[in-house]
Amino acid sequence: MPLSAAVLSELERIVGPRGLVATPEGRMTYECDMHTFYKGAPDVVVLPETTEQVAELVRLCRREHVALVPRGSGTGLIGGAMAPLGGVMVSLTRMNRILELDFENRSATVQPGLINLWLSQATREHGYYFAPDPSSQMVSSIGGNASTNAGGPHCLKYGITVNHVLGLELVTGAGEVLRVGGKVQDQPGYDLTGALVGSEGTLGLLTAVTVRLLHEPEGVKTLLASFSTIDNASETVSAIVGAGIIPAALEMIDEVVVRAIEEGIGAGYPKGAGAVLLIELDGPMAEIDEQSARIVEMCRSRAALEIRVAKDETERTLLWKGRKEAAGVFGRLSATWLLQDAVVPRSRLPQIMREVQAIAARHRLVIANVFHAGDGNLHPLILYNDLVPGELERAKAANDELLRACLAMGGSVTGEHGVGLDKASSMPFQFGEADLAFMARFRRVLDPDGIMNPGKLLPSHPACGEAFKPAAPRLPAGTWI
Ligand SMILES: Cc1cc2nc3c(=O)[nH]c(=O)nc-3n(C[C@H](O)[C@H](O)[C@H](O)COP(=O)(O)OP(=O)(O)OC[C@H]3O[C@@H](n4cnc5c(N)ncnc54)[C@H](O)[C@@H]3O)c2cc1C
Repeated sequence: MPLSAAVLSELERIVGPRGLVATPEGRMTYECDMHTFYKGAPDVVVLPETTEQVAELVRLCRREHVALVPRGSGTGLIGGAMAPLGGVMVSLTRMNRILELDFENRSATVQPGLINLWLSQATREHGYYFAPDPSSQMVSSIGGNASTNAGGPHCLKYGITVNHVLGLELVTGAGEVLRVGGKVQDQPGYDLTGALVGSEGTLGLLTAVTVRLLHEPEGVKTLLASFSTIDNASETVSAIVGAGIIPAALEMIDEVVVRAIEEGIGAGYPKGAGAVLLIELDGPMAEIDEQSARIVEMCRSRAALEIRVAKDETERTLLWKGRKEAAGVFGRLSATWLLQDAVVPRSRLPQIMREVQAIAARHRLVIANVFHAGDGNLHPLILYNDLVPGELERAKAANDELLRACLAMGGSVTGEHGVGLDKASSMPFQFGEADLAFMARFRRVLDPDGIMNPGKLLPSHPACGEAFKPAAPRLPAGTWI
């Protein structure tokens, strides 16, 4: 149901005429995130500049029983920041300021629309940085990172976003402004900060985020090791982590992706190898040298074809450019693909990588791989041609098998991208009915009328029973859960 003229004019009164996008072509820009399978344009997009405006918007939408979809930079890979039921999308891109840098307490407070990389750029000259580094860090927002609990190559050693968020300001689905956590790490009572991180806009809108800043390490060493097979590379990853060494990053890139990176970016990766490991160590120089000698030995004993240490910052930057911009060259492999984000316990990496190859062969598809190997967080890229009848169906079947194989090994349906619309129906594979019912009850406490990001995160499954019915009868059937 389109929004009434009265609601539209109230929205405009709150954010001003420059803060409202209502034209069809303008709204279309917001119809999907980077998972372009799922499309749904909002009825209107609003771009608030203050927490007070956000609270007013929520109260208006609550009164009118209109769905609300928060959006950061729209780089999500889950069908999260899109509006399957229409409604109001709240883009946080104009709330992009650093509110406070507090080096004494090693913390920063920022507005949610601040781009991840901008924070490290602002703090680096003082010797500090923000550790969570999703490969999208040049464009994704800190509010989006906190809402999806983003990971990244360097999260192996330093932890994912939830380990770096100290406090949050949230406008709940009821229109209240909550402030949880703070600069002091030890907070009494329930860990509400932890509960809000990863909530994907289903509990409210984050309007400020206080994060931990880390000291720049004394030294960094980046190694590249190539192997003739994925198996040898996977065994090496297992050996490194099994030996108690936690590199800052430990990434794997297979032959298919290396070829595309070299054609598109030219990062200096060796062509023809079955797999490449990008290994980064950081910390005190003495420790790095000792660990890198052990890692070189482990690579050699697993038949590494080449082991190279980046000789300077220029070469290191280029090696990382290849990895971080890999998604930009996927189009060279295929116009259409499915990207999985499942996880296995890292000790099962060699096994799951054999399974990935077996699944690809069974479904007569190419599955390319570039992923956070040290975390066991796979990103198999299932290539298909949508002009070939039946190929999309085979790709979906392969995707499903992969997910189930990861779960059978004790893994998880998502490592870092989140759930969104894409994986809401996969949640029952991992969680029991009681767990899901509890999550739904928790959601309802902060979003009593079910207006926040409907259709995302929790499954809409008739078998799940009463706990999953939306509280607001005036929203379309099947809303939020
Ligand atoms: C090339 C590429 C590489 C990527 N690499 C990684 C990676 O290494 N690791 C990783 O984890 N992800 C990665 N991603 C996925 C994506 O960048 C992350 O999920 C990121 O955290 C999303 O941030 P965003 O600002 O784009 O959020 P959006 O996509 O706009 O939103 C994501 C979700 O959070 C909600 N949301 C956004 N802002 C708020 C807010 N202020 N309050 C409440 N809810 C909000 C939205 O409703 C949505 O559900 C990658 C994506 C691309 C395209």
